[in-house]
Amino acid sequence: MNTLKVQRRKIANVYNGEPWVYPNAVLSTDVEAGLVRVVTNDDDFVGIADYNPDAPIRARILSFEDSWQGDHAWLEQHLVAAIERRLRLGYSLQAGACRLVNGEGDGMPGLVVDCYGTTLVIDFYTKGMLERKHHLELFFNDKLSDMNVIYRMGEDAAKRENIAPLPPISDSNVTFCEQAVRFEIDFSASQKTGFYLDQRENRRLLAMYGRGRKVLDLFSYHGGFSLAALANGAESALAVDSSNQALEAASRNAVANGLQLDVLPADVFDAFDTIKSEGPFDFIVCDPPKLAPSKRDRNKALGAYRYLVDKCLQNLAPKGIMLLASCSQAIDHEDLRKLLTQQAKKQRLTLDVIAQTSQPADHPWPVSFTVGRYLSAIFVERR
Ligand code: SAH
Repeated sequence: MNTLKVQRRKIANVYNGEPWVYPNAVLSTDVEAGLVRVVTNDDDFVGIADYNPDAPIRARILSFEDSWQGDHAWLEQHLVAAIERRLRLGYSLQAGACRLVNGEGDGMPGLVVDCYGTTLVIDFYTKGMLERKHHLELFFNDKLSDMNVIYRMGEDAAKRENIAPLPPISDSNVTFCEQAVRFEIDFSASQKTGFYLDQRENRRLLAMYGRGRKVLDLFSYHGGFSLAALANGAESALAVDSSNQALEAASRNAVANGLQLDVLPADVFDAFDTIKSEGPFDFIVCDPPKLAPSKRDRNKALGAYRYLVDKCLQNLAPKGIMLLASCSQAIDHEDLRKLLTQQAKKQRLTLDVIAQTSQPADHPWPVSFTVGRYLSAIFVERR
């Protein structure tokens, strides 16, 4: 195993438990991508890591112990622990859907595994993890041989790691249930691993709060929120998304569940004239994509959020509820709360917080690793 030298002063984050080594910490110039033993400039052992000199996160630490049993043993031990943890938390395999492996939160940086019914979607984020694909195949063949396993690596991740992405998933679909809705995912027309499992708890809250309400679902994707609301007694739901494929999937799912869903294919930022003519609404979900991929994008993203909150509040009926969500780590609960405060003041309305949530238990993150805490959501009710 190669040795990677890092500067002790530049890895305070690692000593605090964050398993990432950034470019400014790396001293070695001639080490190739692969598994490395990370040591400080004064030869103190730091950890065993996946190293990629071409990636913005140069090394991801897999073990803080100075011994390596081999990739297969390491993976097996961690995968078993991740699956056992889900079962302990009350999730079940083959019924519903859940995240089985959440990267750093399960001690496996660069790996995400989502389970949809009897299908597993393995999502790679690093070159190092992708190179363990055959170990994963062996593990799942051996331990979960009745599951269908699909492998993917998104273009963004592949670009960051400077490698070729896996070919897109074709002609594969699955069905699973959530909130009394039967969802079908067509992977060839899907984003991420197919579904936004991290919003499950918020869909459950909408199902509960949304009875009898007229729902507006902005950035709806496959209509997860709308369909959860409709299946649980909402009066109507309008799903807005710029992706025709996503809305087609939403409509197919609505029909399959005997639900009446209205869709509006549009850029949300340009759609408020149309939305206004359909409103007001007594539940608005605003769940945009990652508007601030990094801290640098924060101000621009806050501006976009300000616009969205302003428009949403204009279309929110008295006693209506708004769910505002951010999947950007750089925009958190406090930012969302401030935006809601400012815009409520501007429009002279009173909002009360009725729930504040984050990602669910199947998306854990190390307590020291706040990068892993990416989902912030806040439910406010208009008085
Ligand atoms: N709320 C969804 C997940 C939303 S993901 C759920 O719970 O499943 C973000 C969605 O926003 C994607 O479907 C993407 O197609 C859509 N999107 C991105 N930019 C958009 C824009 N400007 N206008 C409308 N939709 C947009």
